Amino acid sequence: MSETQLRSLPGAKFSCQGCGKCCTGFSFGPVEPKVIQGLIDQDMASKWPPAQDGPWYHEHPGPDGTPVFSLAHRDGHCVFLREDKLCAIHAELGEPAKPWFCREYPVRIVQDAKGLSATIRADCGGFSTSYATGQDLDQQLQAALSLPRPVSYPRFDPEHVEVLPGMAISPENWLQLESPLMAKVQDGGAGQGIATLRDVLAKVTERSLPAASPAAAAAVFATTIEQLRPQVEAKLAALLPAKPAPRTEQDPDFYRHVMLSDLLAKRFAAVGSLPAGLGLTLLEVQLAEALGGPAELAQVQRLIQIPENWQAIKAAKPYLTQLFLAWPARWPEQGA
Ligand code: SF4
Repeated sequence: MSETQLRSLPGAKFSCQGCGKCCTGFSFGPVEPKVIQGLIDQDMASKWPPAQDGPWYHEHPGPDGTPVFSLAHRDGHCVFLREDKLCAIHAELGEPAKPWFCREYPVRIVQDAKGLSATIRADCGGFSTSYATGQDLDQQLQAALSLPRPVSYPRFDPEHVEVLPGMAISPENWLQLESPLMAKVQDGGAGQGIATLRDVLAKVTERSLPAASPAAAAAVFATTIEQLRPQVEAKLAALLPAKPAPRTEQDPDFYRHVMLSDLLAKRFAAVGSLPAGLGLTLLEVQLAEALGGPAELAQVQRLIQIPENWQAIKAAKPYLTQLFLAWPARWPEQGA
């Protein structure tokens, strides 16, 4: 596949760390009917005792009446997750016997008018390590692209892209802006990504933005948390810190990589605007920092994807937007 058809972050890396987190907490469907049939034909249930404790797959009517299959959970994780965090299907029958989404994860592929863009999902438990130490991602993408996907890639085709409050551009113009914008963030100093983005957006839209400051960001952060806490489910509510982490300079390369991944994957489109999407990235980074650092980002993102929490995040769009606008390039040491 040519470079114009498939875009990924320059120098992106990934290697699975075998943590098993991708087999925990998610819903495991839709599974291709032929995969379910293959597992039945090869009598997988008799090879794996937990699959005999109850139904190992579920069948629901899909929107057009055809059955939709998913793998069952046991104790919150996939029925086929072994204690050593490896997959029982993979071990018994080989990788091709698994559902497409297990084989594709953690690659996220999005289709847009320029082609496909591929990133690693930050809800992968090994992302914070392997983004720097893993194998070259480009070499792994052909395998992901060749998978027999029963559903099409998510498409980026909004009517417009809101790049600043009240300022929208066409998706075509966004795709032209995307690469130079990302290059600026990539080249920017450690921890400067948000400020760089804000400066570039202000310049291309000829808008002047209020000066960002630690005091303004702390006030918006507190209001955002106040709004979210009663709306989200208990586990996430318990993790919401009252104020931002004192510094934003820890592991700047990782957080910059996350921001670039979010931009290339157009993750902001799901929240409704670029500023709100970047505000969400900031919020997630702050929650990860409050929990202990980059390795916690996967857990944070997984909690945020719980439907109840995701609804609250979308409703908090105005606050997330303000968070992006107020965030300083450098966060002073606490008390400074
Ligand atoms: S969460 Fe990521 S690193 Fe962990 S097992 Fe799954 S793919 Fe591998």
